[in-house]
Amino acid sequence: MRKASNIEHELPGRAESKTVRICGLRIDNLTMREALDWIAQRLDGRGFHQVSFLNAACVNMALRDRDYRRVLAHSSLVLADGIGLRLAGRVLGRRIVENVNGTDLFPLLCERLRGSGKRIFLLGAGPGIAETMRRRIEDNPGGVIVCGATDGYFHPETERELVSRIARSGADLLLVALGAPHQEKWIARAASQTGVKVAIGVGGLFDFYSGRIPRAPQWLREHGLEWAYRLCHEPRRLWRRYLIGNPVFLWHILRRWWRHWSGWRLHHAGDHA
Ligand code: UDP
Repeated sequence: MRKASNIEHELPGRAESKTVRICGLRIDNLTMREALDWIAQRLDGRGFHQVSFLNAACVNMALRDRDYRRVLAHSSLVLADGIGLRLAGRVLGRRIVENVNGTDLFPLLCERLRGSGKRIFLLGAGPGIAETMRRRIEDNPGGVIVCGATDGYFHPETERELVSRIARSGADLLLVALGAPHQEKWIARAASQTGVKVAIGVGGLFDFYSGRIPRAPQWLREHGLEWAYRLCHEPRRLWRRYLIGNPVFLWHILRRWWRHWSGWRLHHAGDHA
């Protein structure tokens, strides 16, 4: 199997300076503020940019799925989402500066774009959720303009119509909540034809923002336990992701740490021979 690193290409517009690699996957190691600046600048610029979030479950999926790895490698920006990535960075000696997840980033981005006239299209989640989210955004007058909202359970045959609907809406920013890696692959395949400047895969954001699913209290989030709270709320859907996925992720990290450490030991043993 080819390594993820072999299929990467440098792309214009990428945040090139601050990158780290976890399990061969590139992460743009930005703070929340830097990520917001980056997105706001791209919304004012030209061309199309894909933004992806990477959490521990995404790493597990990417290590098994070459197409997903390729999409991540071609994303303009890959942000480190969650405590798992921060711990992995610490173990592997690559410090992740901040947990930058979509649910925290979105309200800050709305604030940042207030009065800018930027238009957002919401695609994803169950029937009615994107519309509820739209109403909540519009409760905040003077904020971003939501120029379209539709659920994420569309038939593949209607995809072309959906793409032209987004194009007709004149959206600058497209949020896609179809779950990873489906949303990242969909963005890579279709979003550049919609005319948006930036498309972001946001996972469960619409469910949280619409109020369909409660978000973990701040203190749990601060202790890196949001995943446990989500597991308690949706055990049937999420048990596999967390109860099997977390140990698998840990295994990948420890394997890499061991490889790195034993390589270092051999190298230094050679020095003393
Ligand atoms: N979803 C969708 N279409 C699909 C499959 C999933 O719109 O074909 C939605 C689902 O309703 C949920 C989101 O995608 O709102 C996935 O959320 P999840 O919590 O899995 O994302 P995470 O943030 O954990 O990556």
